[in-house]
Amino acid sequence: MRILVTGGAGYIGSHTVRHLLANGHEVTVFDNLEYGHRQAVPAEALVVGNLRDIDHLDQLLVVNRIEAVIHFAALASVGESVTNPAKYYTNNLIYSLQLLDRCRRNGIQKFVFSSSCATYGEPTQVPIPEDAPQNPVNPYGHTKLAFERALADYAAAHPFGFCTLRYFNAAGAAADGSIGEDHTPETHLVPLAFRAAQGKIPHVTVFGTDYPTPDGTCVRDYVHVDDLATAHALALDKIAPGSKLAYNVGLGRGYSVREVIAAVEAVTGLKVPVKEGPRRAGDPPVLVASADKIRHELGWSAKYDSLRAILDTAWRWHQSHPNGFGE
Ligand code: UDP
Repeated sequence: MRILVTGGAGYIGSHTVRHLLANGHEVTVFDNLEYGHRQAVPAEALVVGNLRDIDHLDQLLVVNRIEAVIHFAALASVGESVTNPAKYYTNNLIYSLQLLDRCRRNGIQKFVFSSSCATYGEPTQVPIPEDAPQNPVNPYGHTKLAFERALADYAAAHPFGFCTLRYFNAAGAAADGSIGEDHTPETHLVPLAFRAAQGKIPHVTVFGTDYPTPDGTCVRDYVHVDDLATAHALALDKIAPGSKLAYNVGLGRGYSVREVIAAVEAVTGLKVPVKEGPRRAGDPPVLVASADKIRHELGWSAKYDSLRAILDTAWRWHQSHPNGFGE
């Protein structure tokens, strides 16, 4: 298939691009390299451009005779979305809607969307099934849910199918340690814990110790980035005209912030200095996937089925790239 991957030089995007290329697809990566990394994707696949430049995207859809779009390009920091919602609505919603409409006009029939467990808000049941109520508790989650709704409306009205993948917490790196997680600024727990272990930052702050969880810290479901990548390829195969698919992608097991930090200490053999801080706005206490649907309907399974296995790959990446893609 000829596939356009927006945000394909980013963390989850670049691992997915690698998987798609290995499976014989023709991939055009569209990325502004603000958060993505040139070194994370093959040079010949990369087109540098901004999502807001809809004419540039339109031209690529036509000239590269694109058959499917995987749309990663988005801002993804929950905390920032609370303090700067306009940035999130503009990038994650307005520009995405423009892209969706150009896809419709150009007859693109398959669309895979990077959604999030943040669309569930504070879940009423755990593990969370796909048909659980979606009531986001932060602007990031609102933007993702709004676009999910737009996709459903488009698929009802036009000859078009989509699959929305609701990622839980992506972690880990390519098995060969060649690509991995590198955000600037880094806000995510797993890379921050490794950096603290390596002495590159003074400590990790635990955001909130008074949650209604066994140890008082937030519980999340960590899934390996390469297992997220395979979910996209399976989704593309499954989408047919009129498909309105939604799948959680997680392992179905939760780990608290303290457990993640302890696991990073076990993997590295190093101490992770920790400070306790207040809650971060917008964080639900527990987000754990029910992954039954994607297992049954797409035949997806996680190659990395434990936190330890996921963190082992991340540690290789952090050791071989102490400055991320900067080195
Ligand atoms: N977290 C933390 N300290 C940090 C970063 C994150 O305690 O410096 C917590 C955060 O509150 C959440 C979990 O770790 O409960 C995972 O956060 P992350 O930002 O990695 O991913 P998110 O869940 O926001 O997608």
